[in-house]
Amino acid sequence: MFDVVIIGAGLAGAVLAERFATQSDKKVLLVERRQHVAGNCYDKVDGNGILIHKYGPHLFHTDDEEVWNYLSKFTEWQNYQHHVKALVDGQAVPLPFNLNTLHKVFPKSLAERLESVLLKNYPYGKKIPILELKKSSDADLQFLADFIYEKIFLHYTEKQWGQTPEQISGAVTARVPILIGRDDRYFHDKFQAVPARGYTALVKKMIFQKNIKLMLNTDFHEVLNIHGHEIYLFGHKFYGRLIYTGQLDELFDCKFGALPYRSVKMKFETIHAENFQTAATVNYPNDYDFTRITEFKNIHPVQSSRTTILKEYPQEYVAGKNSPYYPLFTDEAKAAYEKYFEELKNLPRVKAVGRLAEYRYFDMDDVVRRALNVFAELSA
Ligand code: UDP
Repeated sequence: MFDVVIIGAGLAGAVLAERFATQSDKKVLLVERRQHVAGNCYDKVDGNGILIHKYGPHLFHTDDEEVWNYLSKFTEWQNYQHHVKALVDGQAVPLPFNLNTLHKVFPKSLAERLESVLLKNYPYGKKIPILELKKSSDADLQFLADFIYEKIFLHYTEKQWGQTPEQISGAVTARVPILIGRDDRYFHDKFQAVPARGYTALVKKMIFQKNIKLMLNTDFHEVLNIHGHEIYLFGHKFYGRLIYTGQLDELFDCKFGALPYRSVKMKFETIHAENFQTAATVNYPNDYDFTRITEFKNIHPVQSSRTTILKEYPQEYVAGKNSPYYPLFTDEAKAAYEKYFEELKNLPRVKAVGRLAEYRYFDMDDVVRRALNVFAELSA
């Protein structure tokens, strides 16, 4: 009855469902545990008439033209360049830290001196991860690196991950490098936008196809079992392909231990004013327990006397209680993931794809790229 079963209707699952259904004429069963599609990029219009991102701000950006063109088949875009500010010593300053930020946080003469040292040491336009800048032997650069580390990275990372920047993978803080330039945008990719009617509408457009049967509110255990090397669908042996986009440990009943994640408690608030803040997102590295506040009206403009803001409170992930957001790349977790990955090799018709299944800090465009590559590989 079905050629392909896909677990999870987030971006990875939606791309693969769409490709198999429309390009290979396969009958696809798409199984989703939540009551909605689109995974963590799910958005909806709230009681204030504002399009909100239920699982935190999702801003699409990519340099991958093929990914951009692919998604453009399913949505109109609203051009949008994301700007983030960080509250440093009571002042909202541009993030990533750049030469404009430098002049905002230091008195003129000191800022000018630091700028000239930076320009002597790095080419204009260079991006430097904070942990790299910290290794600098120049006294001025050391001073600057310590300042940025303390005021921007250390306490935000402690809140976000429960660990210091040194304890987590360097690639994580390197996502927000120091820029030797004056471009205040958070991302610098060629294509930046949000879907004009939102991510949920985009995903719906992808998967509402005649060859795709969607089951919401359905845990994959309700339809699927794995015994040894065999897959059973609704109690019958299944000889088709299984694409799994959920947490990989769950596919194997956590037999090598649960993979750890960081979660976030999302707290939405209505403010009875037209606007709350000037930037879409303001980070609070050093103040309060939340990491950042996002005002969705600044992403999806709309006329309203009210505005909706979101405060993000990072917390431990507890299965069944909250949602997994970010993989925790401890050595122990990586070793456990490898064991699950080895186990997958016994199931050649199963492919693990996406942020949860591959235990990777994928951005949305990375997920789409990965899903397109998997489809190409499986249909070769
Ligand atoms: N980060 C930080 N201070 C900031 C912004 C980011 O320390 O003001 C660090 C923090 O460790 C964070 C990482 O950089 O987890 C990546 O930030 P990004 O904004 O890419 O996180 P996401 O939007 O994916 O949660």
